[in-house]
Amino acid sequence: MLHDAGFSNWVTTAHKLCKEHPIGNESEIDSFLNLECEPMKRMLKKKSQENFKTTWLTDISDSEKQPKLRTYKKFKSKLQFEPYLNLHNVKIRTAIAQFRLSAHHLRIETGRHTRPYTPADKRFCLKCNDNLIQDEEHHLMLCAAFVNQRMPLLQCAAQYINGFDNLSNTDRFIQIVSSENTKLLTALGTFLIDTAKCS
Ligand SMILES: [Zn+2]
Repeated sequence: MLHDAGFSNWVTTAHKLCKEHPIGNESEIDSFLNLECEPMKRMLKKKSQENFKTTWLTDISDSEKQPKLRTYKKFKSKLQFEPYLNLHNVKIRTAIAQFRLSAHHLRIETGRHTRPYTPADKRFCLKCNDNLIQDEEHHLMLCAAFVNQRMPLLQCAAQYINGFDNLSNTDRFIQIVSSENTKLLTALGTFLIDTAKCS
């Protein structure tokens, strides 16, 4: 075979992928490499996807490695296309994307860049002065400075999320941010845009 003669072909790639995404012990790999091209490709693809999902979930759950993703991991437990990306309104779509990825100006994020450095437990909200950390959950669910802007969002959430009124604030936050309902996502984006103007 060309691969055995030192030439690079699809078998070389398969060997490389087998090393990166172990599918079993040595003899299992050998019998696997003897499969026809198509079944092998299908198996490798499936295995690569599974390994990627596992690594991805481990990575986003590691707060020390990824401090910026501390909120993201609360609502992102599945690797899938996010329905909010289907929203037609670009401003709303962008506002939600930035909020989900912590690309915003809340103190939990800006505090990382202050000199001297502000520890996470000292990044208090300067909008309400209630001595509470200004993170995404505080901003969306609690901050007293945005009670009026929050009203339509909560009304919409109560309409589309089962048992919303009985949920904890954290669960309300997770349900809203991970919603697949277009009207609720639009209300979320509108809240984020309105409150950003007050920053
Ligand atoms: Zn506040």
